[in-house]
Amino acid sequence: MAIRSSQKLLQKFKKSLNTLATPITTDPSTNLVEKFDKLPVDINSKTEQILDLEDGEKLFSSVPTRSLLRSMMNQYMASYDPIVDIGVWVMKSKLVETMIIKNIILGIVKHTFYDHFCAGENLDEANQTLQKLWNVGLKGIMDYGLEDANDNASCDRNLNEFLKTVESTKLLPPFSVSYACVKITAICPISLLKRVSDLLRWEHKDPSFHLPWKIDTLPMLSDSSPFYHTLNRPDPLTPTEEHDLHQAHQRLLKLSEKCLEINLPLLVDAEYSSVQPAIDYLTYSTMIRINRNENPIVYGTIQAYLKDSKERLIQATETAEKMGITLGLKLVRGAYLSSESQVASSLGFASPVHESIQKTHASYDECASIMLQKVAKGTGAILIATHNIESGRAAATKAQELGIEKSNQKVQFAQLKGMADGLSFALKNAGFQVSKYLPYGPVEMVIPYLLRRAEENRGLLSASTMDRQLMRKEVIRRLKLESSNSERPS
Ligand SMILES: Cc1cc2nc3c(=O)[nH]c(=O)nc-3n(C[C@H](O)[C@H](O)[C@H](O)COP(=O)(O)OP(=O)(O)OC[C@H]3O[C@@H](n4cnc5c(N)ncnc54)[C@H](O)[C@@H]3O)c2cc1C
Repeated sequence: MAIRSSQKLLQKFKKSLNTLATPITTDPSTNLVEKFDKLPVDINSKTEQILDLEDGEKLFSSVPTRSLLRSMMNQYMASYDPIVDIGVWVMKSKLVETMIIKNIILGIVKHTFYDHFCAGENLDEANQTLQKLWNVGLKGIMDYGLEDANDNASCDRNLNEFLKTVESTKLLPPFSVSYACVKITAICPISLLKRVSDLLRWEHKDPSFHLPWKIDTLPMLSDSSPFYHTLNRPDPLTPTEEHDLHQAHQRLLKLSEKCLEINLPLLVDAEYSSVQPAIDYLTYSTMIRINRNENPIVYGTIQAYLKDSKERLIQATETAEKMGITLGLKLVRGAYLSSESQVASSLGFASPVHESIQKTHASYDECASIMLQKVAKGTGAILIATHNIESGRAAATKAQELGIEKSNQKVQFAQLKGMADGLSFALKNAGFQVSKYLPYGPVEMVIPYLLRRAEENRGLLSASTMDRQLMRKEVIRRLKLESSNSERPS
């Protein structure tokens, strides 16, 4: 009786896992996910295996079956286009302006996407999430999910929240937090970032264009950068704007000094190209003041999906070397793909993003390789932030070839919470330092972050496909094991 019911249970689970995979396709003749999921897990087939992604038992040994199933279900939901479409529509719609409906919607979001991708509503909850990760050998990147401030008062409030987050890490187990994190759009008004970016672009086009407020920095633009955001010569900054820019700089400096004091590196996120030159300007000029030691404190971010990313990276590394600065960079593919393309096409220009995903992959791996060489030389540090198994493997292999110790603080890996846990564990098992990025804050506040995750995880071959495949394989293995154990006579 018990045997039959557990076999039935196993069959039921297999069936439900299969049905979860199937609806993703719209065309039954090309059920890509089904084909993809039926592929044997062959991600270890390439070259010498620095990462072991084959042994699911070892990979997910610290994850209870219930959590594994929950993660898998959430990832399937997040990749299923109709669910994502409805979710995105609801989160952006006017429905959220009605209090009762808003509470219902936020409640649903909280128990699905939010719980999966975020670390908690406040610092205490985020710290508990961090502690759980630390117990299984992973570190955390604490991110209070603030973005988009419009005036100085909200920028000051946001700065205080960032400072509180940094301060709180002192109470956590040493080394459990690998980096703090900030978005410049939360500490400098967006309209000012646009103005400064315009002026920096114009200066690049016409070096005789004088910017009296500009201080020492690294190059932020290259000849291949997009200039369509600035079609006319911009007016100089007004005295008030200059004052506000100085204030924004002081905020970043204050946060960086706090991080320097407790020796916690600070990641400055990259955002969208209309404001990125100003973000890089503030980041690099702060870096010049703060990164005076061998281990950098301030890290900028390069988005490899941008056509100008490699050129800008090379310019920045070369100038930093000449200035004796240790350049810290986080390398990502980039999360604003659709908005970048939409803005460019609305202005009648080509997208600043590589035309194909293959070009983005190649750009990512080349940028990682350049930075790893700088690490080996002692002039750079890199956080390899990716869910892509091939990029993770390529970077790990390159680091090993260059003789970089796995304990070297200047090469670390990171994935977002709720994404690519298989890769995180494989990197950790291989001896690398791995973090999960932990956004936290009230549900309403992190909606823009959740929308970007929804965009990124949707579709057939999204970042989470391989992870779902690994988890599914491990769940089936555990269920089979349980079933055969219960078949044994007691
Ligand atoms: C720790 C951490 C910090 C992050 N910080 C930032 C940040 O500061 N700024 C930021 O923008 N993002 C940031 N991200 C998000 C990151 O950009 C996305 O998670 C990333 O796009 C996913 O790519 P991947 O490297 O995981 O590779 P994959 O899993 O291979 O990603 C594939 C994705 O690349 C995108 N893509 C890129 N180029 C193309 C193209 N030419 N054609 C089609 N699709 C393309 C698609 O959306 C696709 O989903 C961060 C991520 C992590 C893990």
